[in-house]
Amino acid sequence: MAGNDAALWFVFRGGRMLVFRTEPTDAPRAIAPEDLGLDVRFRQEIGALDGRRCYAAELKPDAEVPEEMMFRDLQGLLVEVDERFFAMAGRARQIVEWHETHRFCGRCGAETASVTTELAKECPRCGMLFYPRLSPAVIVLVKRGDSILMARSPGFPPGIYSVLAGFVEPGESIEAAISREVCEEVGVEVENVRYFGSQPWPFPHSLMIGFTADYAGGELRVEPAEIEDAGWFEANSLPAVPPKASIARAMIDQFVAHHGRSPETLETSA
Ligand SMILES: [Zn+2]
Repeated sequence: MAGNDAALWFVFRGGRMLVFRTEPTDAPRAIAPEDLGLDVRFRQEIGALDGRRCYAAELKPDAEVPEEMMFRDLQGLLVEVDERFFAMAGRARQIVEWHETHRFCGRCGAETASVTTELAKECPRCGMLFYPRLSPAVIVLVKRGDSILMARSPGFPPGIYSVLAGFVEPGESIEAAISREVCEEVGVEVENVRYFGSQPWPFPHSLMIGFTADYAGGELRVEPAEIEDAGWFEANSLPAVPPKASIARAMIDQFVAHHGRSPETLETSA
């Protein structure tokens, strides 16, 4: 059985994870924040990875970290670490963020307390329960013949285009969300929606649910508040695409490989 000395700690401050400067981030040392003299204001056991218990922790804002360590954005680690490690780090980040944003009851304002039997917080005054927030989002690759629909949001890194994505709204099915998002953002209708796969996206608490779909009608008409530019692209003339390890990239890579081009030749952000 794995003891505490073999535990993996995912330690955050302000949404960024504490890592050693000189070690590969997918081989973190088994070390507890206390051993580094760090002040923790929240900790939670979050599961196990290869038999090692995993903990999420949030440092106090003024905690001094050792010289040999630094904070990094999880998004930057995505392309560097093992998929399972990233998933656990993402789980840790989401739980820490949930703790930070649910310290008080949204109904009556009393301070919440952790529930020991499940991943939840409870209001001791009114009994309200709070679970970690998950925001399902659909991401869809739309095909028309040998082309796919790609678009740029204003917040993307320069030059990058991706497939369309958007959050599922209350009262809406996933299928309806796909139709609405595609129609709202670029004025196009889709059909033959097929499931591709999913990916937790802990920035801060999305679950990306991926689909492919076929173009069914309509002219491209960009909604300027959400989309800067959009177009139909063939496999051999794609713009720069999102980094590896994202579900958007996995969908684009599959399309590209199907059309005889190596995904390795795609241009991406630095
Ligand atoms: Zn309450």
